[in-house]
Amino acid sequence: MKVEQSVVLRVAVALPVWNTFHYTVPPQLLPKARVGCRVLAPFGKKKVTGYILERTPSSEERELRDVLDVLDREPLFHESTVPFFQWMAEYYMHPLGRLIQSALPGGLNVRVFVTARLTEKGERALSLLAPEDKEILLWVKEHPKKRVPVPLQALYPLQKQGLLVLDHRKSRAVAGPLLRRFVRTGQGLSGTGFFQEHGDSFSAKNEREFLERIFRSNGISVAELCGRYANGAYLVEKWIRKGVLEPYMVTVVRDPAGNILSSEPPPERLSERQEEAAAAIREALKKKAFAAFLLHGVTGSGKTEVYYQAIQETIRLGRQAILMAPEIALVIYMEGLFRSRLGDRVALYHSGLSQGERYDQWMKMARGEVDLVIGARSALFAPLPGLGLIIVDEEHDTSYKQDEAPRHHARDAAVVRGKIEKALVLLGSGTPSIQSFYNARNGRYGLLCMPERIRNRPLPEVEVVDMRTSSDKGTEEEMISPVLKSALDNVVAEKSQAMLFLNRRGFTRVLLCRVCGQSLRCPNCDVSLTFHLRENHVVCHYCGFRRGVAPKCSACGRDGLKPYGFGTEKVEKALGEMYPGLRTARMDRDSIRRKGQTFELLRKFSLHEIDVLIGTQMITKGYDFPRVTLVGVLAADFSLGFPDFRAAEKTFQILSQVAGRAGRGEQKGRVIVQTFYPEHYAVAAAKNHDYPSFFEQETALRRQLGYPPFSFLACLRLQGNHESRTSDVSKELAEEMAGVIGRWPKRGREVQVLGPVEAPLAKIRGKYRWQIFVKSRSSALLHHFLKKVAARSAKLLRGKGVELVVDIDPYQML
Ligand code: ADP
Ligand code: ZN
Repeated sequence: MKVEQSVVLRVAVALPVWNTFHYTVPPQLLPKARVGCRVLAPFGKKKVTGYILERTPSSEERELRDVLDVLDREPLFHESTVPFFQWMAEYYMHPLGRLIQSALPGGLNVRVFVTARLTEKGERALSLLAPEDKEILLWVKEHPKKRVPVPLQALYPLQKQGLLVLDHRKSRAVAGPLLRRFVRTGQGLSGTGFFQEHGDSFSAKNEREFLERIFRSNGISVAELCGRYANGAYLVEKWIRKGVLEPYMVTVVRDPAGNILSSEPPPERLSERQEEAAAAIREALKKKAFAAFLLHGVTGSGKTEVYYQAIQETIRLGRQAILMAPEIALVIYMEGLFRSRLGDRVALYHSGLSQGERYDQWMKMARGEVDLVIGARSALFAPLPGLGLIIVDEEHDTSYKQDEAPRHHARDAAVVRGKIEKALVLLGSGTPSIQSFYNARNGRYGLLCMPERIRNRPLPEVEVVDMRTSSDKGTEEEMISPVLKSALDNVVAEKSQAMLFLNRRGFTRVLLCRVCGQSLRCPNCDVSLTFHLRENHVVCHYCGFRRGVAPKCSACGRDGLKPYGFGTEKVEKALGEMYPGLRTARMDRDSIRRKGQTFELLRKFSLHEIDVLIGTQMITKGYDFPRVTLVGVLAADFSLGFPDFRAAEKTFQILSQVAGRAGRGEQKGRVIVQTFYPEHYAVAAAKNHDYPSFFEQETALRRQLGYPPFSFLACLRLQGNHESRTSDVSKELAEEMAGVIGRWPKRGREVQVLGPVEAPLAKIRGKYRWQIFVKSRSSALLHHFLKKVAARSAKLLRGKGVELVVDIDPYQML
């Protein structure tokens, strides 16, 4: 007799454990237990959610436990993506089950549950059943449509006997994809007629204005009305009932400023450069193998059209594409463009969507109903059955690095996903990261260049204002130089608009010499030292070097050292005093708390309801405001003085991007950059729009000091509620690490441990913070070392109230 072959599932459970586990499947669940589905599995005495990674026939005799249930009717991800999840978990040292959990759309765990209802046969059988079964049936009878609080194993036999019917239900009705409710005035109604007839007999003060707004529009979203009028919801319903307004549903696509997008057809002809780039990409796509390209195109060179060509070819080849952008506003802009050309087979995926919307979009992708996914960082995991292309727009943007676990870099991970799933990866930027350009230089990526703007529009001229000569007062309040002031006077006189840019909110203080512009730097690490006011000393947070503050600058020997740091708030206040009546607004992470607020500000700015927008790097990204005639950078040095080896890179990128905001409209724009350090190569290269020279100088420095891309870096951060215990544990861990290295006579020298040292932000939300950096030329060796350390740290940390966070390829140095 032939024994029915059983199936073994390899499952990643959503717990902080490193292994995957094997389970068997009861026969009735067999057809449902597909790779990519969630299961409910016994784990010790608990039940946990797990993800099926693999399904294999089992021949060997093994004592395995059965899964209790399969929670999905369709897979949430494809088998082809499993190796990518595994790589992510290994590389970023995050438990696999947890990683998958964080990749999937939220709210899944409450989403599907099982309800049951009694059949007639069940009803009749009630009195005849064994007590346990009777109890179940009675419960079911009394709780129709409720989640059954009994293991499914106990329910299946009852279903088989025909006593009850099981039903999988969703816990919440899920909204259709991105449908919005709109209202417009009824057909044949005219505003003039309506208001004549009505006179002034409105019950609410704002009612007339409310109705006028709708009459003026061709239809307006109810959400917008509710945003403008506190009684909006009430008024909408009232006037629908009266037959003046009629509701309808729209699939909306809006630009960052909140306008509904009209379609933008492809240009008639590509530029020569665009055509070259597109042709190279098309050729590579045809091979259906992994390849990576860096598209280095200055702002306005038309990168988006090259993306479109690549996407079209991918679709033609029967595969799917992911397009990532660093900001939700850019995602929405891209969506408008691509949906107008590609129609409904475009999905949108970012954290601005509701949970229901995200779930819907996810399932559409998983089913293969989508050709293109446009999204922010989280789109990296899009469950596409035949991934052919991943585009990372603005690839240099550091917001691709996630600050919470899993602390991955979406661009780096995209390249690996491409490798694993045999897809093409296209990284695009006007100011490529050193990392990516280095990879292009050494041949790992193909390099595609578009050095000119479309229609040969000139790049804006950048004026650099030397703040050392501009003021000898050297006070912190001196934020706006005479040159910038007179440019602002012009803006006010012409009634045009300006953007003022400040790199940081200004919470870290560095010491800057007002005479020579140099910041105080660490002799070992060549990063800026961080000033601690309380102790009046400066500290290097890479290596721990510290010293008291000398009165004189070490570079020029003069008496110019001053702590430096002012924020956007202070600038706004100063502007208000300078120009009473000027309409200013601030856009930074402090002022933007709610999600819609960014759009609201941008919308107001685009309608010229705001004259001057002051912001952090949030304002540098991709937006087009034709009435902006002045872009001012208040202090280019903020980022240069930052205690971060990427300080120069960030400064160059930000200055170039900011400059790219000017001169987009008819009027030629002015870009004014204030700096204490005009000779710095990052400032000079940005002024001259000279990426290659910046790259050469920056890589020479990094090579010399052994920073990425010439090494791999990890940051071990220790956080605890107790000050001395946190520092003690950090020191013990560092000793432990030194011990591990000491036992590796040969390769030990290839790993460097720096610290421990108090983090520049020494305390956040009541937690004391220390960090240890680890550096090595070999990524494999670094990982090998970190695994050993992680294993030992568990014992060391036990009961100390100190948490260890491992950040691979860290960007956040604070
Ligand atoms: P980038 O992303 O490189 O900064 P965009 O893709 O936003 O540049 O393109 C800049 C502008 O040029 C857009 O308004 C776009 O519509 C236009 N454009 C792009 N390609 C062409 C072309 N081949 N012919 C005419 N206009 C184009
Ligand atoms: Zn140092």
